[in-house]
Amino acid sequence: MEIFYSPYSLKPLQFLNALGPKQNGREGALLKVDWGEGLVGYADLHPWSELGDASLEEQLSDLRQGLYSPQVKQSLWLAQRDAELRQQKKNIFELHNPIKNNFLLADIQITQPTTFDELKKQGFTTIKVKMGRNLKEECRLLSQIADAGLKVRLDFNAMGSPGSFEEFIKSLSNKVLHSIEYVEDPFPFEFSFWVEARKLAKIALDNQYEKVPWDEISTAPCDVIIIKPAKMDVNLALAYCQKWNLKATVTSYMDHPVGVTHAMGVAMELQQKYGEMILESGCLTHHLYQADSFSAELSSEGPYLKKVTGTGVGFDQLLGTTIWFQIKKTQ
Ligand code: MG
Repeated sequence: MEIFYSPYSLKPLQFLNALGPKQNGREGALLKVDWGEGLVGYADLHPWSELGDASLEEQLSDLRQGLYSPQVKQSLWLAQRDAELRQQKKNIFELHNPIKNNFLLADIQITQPTTFDELKKQGFTTIKVKMGRNLKEECRLLSQIADAGLKVRLDFNAMGSPGSFEEFIKSLSNKVLHSIEYVEDPFPFEFSFWVEARKLAKIALDNQYEKVPWDEISTAPCDVIIIKPAKMDVNLALAYCQKWNLKATVTSYMDHPVGVTHAMGVAMELQQKYGEMILESGCLTHHLYQADSFSAELSSEGPYLKKVTGTGVGFDQLLGTTIWFQIKKTQ
C-alpha cells in the first residue's frame, strides 16, 4: 500500500462555531491510497484541534512511522470504499437514493437566510443552529424557525452547563420547544446529568462521543448519535444505535469537498440500509468556505447535494491533476 498526501487550506467565510475566532485558513490534506493493481482511492484528513484532534503535522508524522490515528484510520476506510467504486467505474451518488440535509446556520451574523419560509419552499425541513454566541439573537431566530413550521437542531458544542441548559429550555415557548428535533452536546458529558437532560429535550451526542463509557452504562445518555465518518468508526456507532434504540445523523466534518461527498455517500447508504433510524444528514457545509476548484464541482438543490461528476466520490479530473507527495509505502 502506498499513501500520498496533498495539503490544502480552506478559507472560512464566517465563524464556524463558538469555540474559537474566525481563522484565516483551516489546514488539511487529501490522501491518495494506492493498493496496487489499479485499486486507488481518495479521502480527506481534516483535523479540528479545537475539538481534540491531533494536528495535521502530528497525524502525518505518525503515519510516516506506521501509526494510524483514529482519523487516519477512517480516511483509509473511506479511501478503500472510494477505490472499490472507482475500480468498478461506479459513482456513489448513482447507487443510492438522495437524502435531505439540514440547513446550517453556523454564524447567525452572516448566514441570515432571506426568510425561513423561503428555505421551506426550497424543500428544507430542518435548520441547524450553532448556539452560544448571542443567545438573545439566537432565540429570536428559533421563534422565526418555529413560526415557519420548520424543525430545528441546536448545537451547544458542550459549552453550557446543566444549570444553564435547564434555564434555557424553560425559557422557551411551547411552540419553539415543539420545533426542536434535538439538542446536540448541551454541556460536557457527565452520565447522570445527560440522562437528566433527556427529560427536558431530545439529546444528540456529537463531540462528547469519546467520553461515553458504552460498556459500563445502564441506560442511553442520548437519543441520537451524530455519526461523522471522518473520525468515527461508523459500524461501531451503528451498533450502539441498535443496542440502545437510538437514531443517527450523518454529518460531514466541516471539511474538504472530498470529505463532504464521502459523508454524503455514507449517509445515503445507511439510510437505504437502516431506514428511519437514519435522520436527515448535515453535509451541506461547503458554503462555509471560499469557493475553490473542488467546491465548484459541488452543487445543491434545496436540501439535496447533487451528484458530483466522476467515479467513486467524484472529482476524477481534479484529483488526477493534484500534486501528490509520497508519505508511506508498506509491503
Ligand atoms: Mg456538533
